[in-house]
Order: sequence, then C-alpha cells, then structure tokens
Amino acid sequence: MAETMYEAPGIGLAATQVDVHKRVVVIDVSEDKSELRVFVNPELDNCLGLAVGEEGCLSVPGIYDKVERAERVTVRYLDLDGKARVLEADGLLAVCIQHEIDHLNGKVFVDHLSQLKQTRIRNKLAKQARVTA
Ligand SMILES: [Zn+2]
Repeated sequence: MAETMYEAPGIGLAATQVDVHKRVVVIDVSEDKSELRVFVNPELDNCLGLAVGEEGCLSVPGIYDKVERAERVTVRYLDLDGKARVLEADGLLAVCIQHEIDHLNGKVFVDHLSQLKQTRIRNKLAKQARVTA
C-alpha cells in the first residue's frame, strides 16, 4: 500500500482504494517520504476546531476543492504489531487522517461539497472517462 501511495504520488491511502477490505490507512505527509505511518482500525476520538483546506484525492483524479475539517483530531488505532495507540494530530496530518478514514467509511472528500459542486465534478469525471476509455 505504501508503494502505491508513493508512486501516485500521494500523501495518504486507504485500503479500500486498492481493493483491500481491511480498515488500514497509510499516511506520509513529510516532504522526503521519511515518516510513513500505518493506522489499523483507526477511529477518530476528539475533533476540535475547524479548518478549511484544499484537498485532492487519488480516487478522484484532477479534482481539487476546499473542504471543512476539524483542525485537531485524536485518533485511536492499532500499530502493525497490534498495539493500541493514540495520536494527536493537527495541520495537514489531521486533514489527511480524516480524509483517509472517510475512505474506510465509503466516502470521498467530494461528499463534503455542495450538491451543485458534486454534480459538476461527476460531469467532469464522466468526460475524462470518455476521453481515456
Ligand atoms: Zn482520497
């Protein structure tokens, strides 16, 4: 999964995006790809504040839009050894965690946008599909 994410290139990937039906997320928000984090069964605990940032997604190529997220989150998860862990995150990491947990729940960031924007994005993606098909 980490390889797929780095190749994309992306800063996060949920197992559901590569057809793995487990609750696993990999994230690396560092610039030199040196901070790979793996979250098994991640659950958001405390969500505080509000931050609006531009997001894109490997599952919705070419689409970027502003999304409202919590500014700080606490996430409970298991590490690769099955050990329970708690992480407090803010900034880009907090956004990325929320984005990837959405994927595990079958949502993409587009679902956070207005109906009008969602329709526009669907039309755009349909056009792209016709060009590349
Ligand atoms: Zn995504």
